[in-house]
Amino acid sequence: MYNVAEVNAEACVAQKGCRLCIMYCPEANCIQLDTQKMKAVIVESRCKGCELCVVVCDAAKHNAITMVAR
Ligand code: SF4
Ligand code: SF4
Repeated sequence: MYNVAEVNAEACVAQKGCRLCIMYCPEANCIQLDTQKMKAVIVESRCKGCELCVVVCDAAKHNAITMVAR
């Protein structure tokens, strides 16, 4: 079992232009922008559980990403 990131779509403000998690995630193509819903989405199979996305999202006070066990 390990932890992967999960975006709470209601809290994500990607529709206002936020791309912090996408910019900071060290894994290529791991966090993507759902261009229809305008929300960040995690590709779980690529997530390494580093929590950097949680740190930057929380630092911006959006608090939209949590780690979940898989
Ligand atoms: S940093 Fe947080 S609010 Fe910004 S796009 Fe990522 S999940 Fe959404
Ligand atoms: S936990 Fe790390 S690897 Fe996973 S989505 Fe967040 S920044 Fe990317």
